[in-house]
Amino acid sequence: MTDCVSAEKTCETPECNLPAKLQCPTCMKLGIKNSYFCSQACFKSNWKIHKLIHKLIENTGDNQNLKESYNPWPYYQYTGKLRPYRQTMKRTVPDNILKPDYADDPKGVPYMEQKAKLSSQIKVLDEEEIEGMKVACKLGREVLEEVANVIDVNVTTEEIDRIVHEACIDRDCYPSPLNYYQFPKSCCTSVNEVICHGIPDLRPLANGDICNVDVTVYHREYHGDLNETFLIGNVSDISKKLVSTTWECLQNAIKAVEPGEKYREIGNVIQKYAQSKGFSVVRTYCGHGIHKLFHTPPSIPHYAKNKVVGIMKPGHCFTIEPMINQGNWRDDTWPDKWTAVTIDGLLSAQFEETLLVTDTGVEVLTKRIKNNGQPYFMDKL
Ligand SMILES: [Zn+2]
Ligand SMILES: [Zn+2]
Repeated sequence: MTDCVSAEKTCETPECNLPAKLQCPTCMKLGIKNSYFCSQACFKSNWKIHKLIHKLIENTGDNQNLKESYNPWPYYQYTGKLRPYRQTMKRTVPDNILKPDYADDPKGVPYMEQKAKLSSQIKVLDEEEIEGMKVACKLGREVLEEVANVIDVNVTTEEIDRIVHEACIDRDCYPSPLNYYQFPKSCCTSVNEVICHGIPDLRPLANGDICNVDVTVYHREYHGDLNETFLIGNVSDISKKLVSTTWECLQNAIKAVEPGEKYREIGNVIQKYAQSKGFSVVRTYCGHGIHKLFHTPPSIPHYAKNKVVGIMKPGHCFTIEPMINQGNWRDDTWPDKWTAVTIDGLLSAQFEETLLVTDTGVEVLTKRIKNNGQPYFMDKL
């Protein structure tokens, strides 16, 4: 028996066979091992053939060996057990579907949103605009309902993304997250310690996971935004308690919405309830105004004693989307610059609805119609 201490790598170029130390940067990113070149010259001359392996991996993306060796950020210290898996290519949306301004921008910049940010004015929607919001929000709920029908153990978040993407197109909707500040996918999937903005990838959901799926659709100029956290297979009692508490936080917050109420009151309601159950409230990410713009004033913190200004008026449209943590409220972000995780690697859950302030109170525009409006996780308790 021999022990190979340092196997000599040889150049990948056919018939070269020189010792090789240079690794292709794209291969490294994709987690492809054992691809070496002796020199830049060989790398360049072999490029046309070599790059096919990148396409192959990006397209199929389920080679077990490659999956196991995938570690895009060797120097990042993960806060918990979850790891990124490879992602598939960006999906496309047919030309006949109306797109928001950032959809085809190389940097994904939402120009209209940035312009609106300059003033902190909250838009009061007229009847026609409210009707537009109602339709978009109803379609958003239909898309999430499709997710609920398939999400389960062994389903990858990539597969969830495909379902969301196609369900949007079927309903003449653009999936709002796609290319928003260059976000690469059509929805956010946030598993276990991920607080929000998780990117769908090839990781199969595991028994005992919790997974939030955040859907936003853009239909005839209006965005409808909602999310729910799902229980995958058999989950622990603490997961169930966290998920139900988070849902109750959102229900309590919705009850507080009425004309004349201060936006800063929402956070007081949410934190009081979360704390009474021994959980903490994320502070970095907030609810937001929404209509023809995806994220626009007001910004609505979910934590207590926030100093946000503004009073609810009939015709205001916004989301409430509390993120509640099992442990510490603090967050960290993966080097992909999107995935927000808990600082201690413990669980985080979230629920979101898009709301309209009415003359007498509130209407939940994204509300579930099926099963008496019960959240999906309740089927599993
Ligand atoms: Zn959302
Ligand atoms: Zn939102």
